[in-house]
Amino acid sequence: MKKIYESTRDCNVNVTASEAVLNGISPDGGLYVMRDLDIINIDVNELVGKNYHEIAYKILKEMLNDFSDKEIGYCVSKAYNNKFSSKNITPIVKVGDKYILELFHGKTSAFKDVALSILPYLITTSFGINKIKEEVVILTATSGDTGKAALEGFKNVKGTKIIVFYPDEGVSQVQKAQMLTQEGNNTFVSAIEGNFDDAQTGVKNIFTDNNMKKILADNQKRFSSANSINIGRLIPQIVYYFYSYIQLLETGEIQKDEKVNFVVPTGNFGNILAGYYAKLLGLPINKLICASNKNNVLYDFIKTGVYDANREFYKTISPSMDILVSSNLERLLYYMSDNNNEMVKDLMMNLVQKGKYEVENSIKQKIEEIFFAGYAKESEITKTIREVYEKDNYLIDTHTAVACKVLEDYKDETGDKTKNIVLSTASPFKFAGSVYKAIFGKHDKNEFNLMYELSEKTGFGIPDNLMGIEKKPILHESLCKTSEMKDTIIKLLNI
Ligand SMILES: *Cc1c(COP(=O)(O)O)cnc(C)c1O
Repeated sequence: MKKIYESTRDCNVNVTASEAVLNGISPDGGLYVMRDLDIINIDVNELVGKNYHEIAYKILKEMLNDFSDKEIGYCVSKAYNNKFSSKNITPIVKVGDKYILELFHGKTSAFKDVALSILPYLITTSFGINKIKEEVVILTATSGDTGKAALEGFKNVKGTKIIVFYPDEGVSQVQKAQMLTQEGNNTFVSAIEGNFDDAQTGVKNIFTDNNMKKILADNQKRFSSANSINIGRLIPQIVYYFYSYIQLLETGEIQKDEKVNFVVPTGNFGNILAGYYAKLLGLPINKLICASNKNNVLYDFIKTGVYDANREFYKTISPSMDILVSSNLERLLYYMSDNNNEMVKDLMMNLVQKGKYEVENSIKQKIEEIFFAGYAKESEITKTIREVYEKDNYLIDTHTAVACKVLEDYKDETGDKTKNIVLSTASPFKFAGSVYKAIFGKHDKNEFNLMYELSEKTGFGIPDNLMGIEKKPILHESLCKTSEMKDTIIKLLNI
């Protein structure tokens, strides 16, 4: 089968789609990318009338070309047949003058469920295609939502184990409870002393650590990644960009070939990159609006061409976006530089050595043609939550609020009249404390009580998976320093 994926950092590192999925990250530290992504053309008008499953099938088939029809069908049905509480998987609703794409109807009430419901099957299928008999150990760093979604996705999937590291002080009470109460015979969770970037860097280092690889191999195991550096995470996210567009076409909200904007609350640049991929594949997108919180490193980068991670790290009320090193930006740089692996490699070396890099003016301009960047301060997030609730009687979480705020700034600044689809990445009940406070003011109750009170006062229902979460038994207790992550893995796996 043709090796259509290469490393962002070296065009001589070539792999098949299934190899890219099972490796997660390229051995040279680069990310896997498809060289000629824009050669694939998906005709949007041919998708009209198709459901989520059918659109997923079509897109996955194009991007995972060494999977058989049967294998793709198996993965799609396993992921989306009965794990979502909405039959549309990702329904879209009109709120005021914009459309909100609700991506939070999966098992853990965050958008990451969309990709992490299917990833376990993509990975186990990839192992099968490559006749690998070893057990796969999924290693994941989380800023809160990936961890739980990955645990839930991999729970009891045969031939897999999953280990999640999360920043001890960096996640919400509900997120923490979700992870610590995780059931399953193959799930492991550990807090680390540090922030998300520390966790992510630790995990990346372990992936490229030959000694660890050997220890695992000696025990018939092998690492893979559930983070959005894995193409198996990114590709399923392209689907809802297409599907949301189709939904609006079918209901007559937009006309054939009409361009739309997508507004994406961004952290690791995975979700919005999937939007860029959708554009390359032929979806009529005008602007991709990149919304950051107070950790606005992406905003600065898009405006100035300088990526500088040497700055204060803020803990915000949108914790899943508290990130200073946005991994998937590396893939964008690859495409924006016309596949210049050498340049990407240099920039990434600068990032490691100096925490900083700068791109050429031509690349900066290219990025600005496609993307608009904005950010929201803490007070702006709460104000937006309150306004949307009071004006439109609709509840949004803190991350979605960042996007809504930046959309308003975008409209003010540009006067653009294009229709806007805001990606809603989490249920408001997952961040109930902040949402409650934004609407009803100060409180001294814990987050769990506020979840129930928010539901009572607003009339919006709490997702099933969050009901009674505070009463579930704690099943995971590990806490380690970042320097102890390797030892922790060995201990948890008992090898
Ligand atoms: C992960 C996450 C984000 C950020 O998505 P990226 O793909 O990392 O940019 C935004 N909102 C929520 C709720 C998330 O869980």
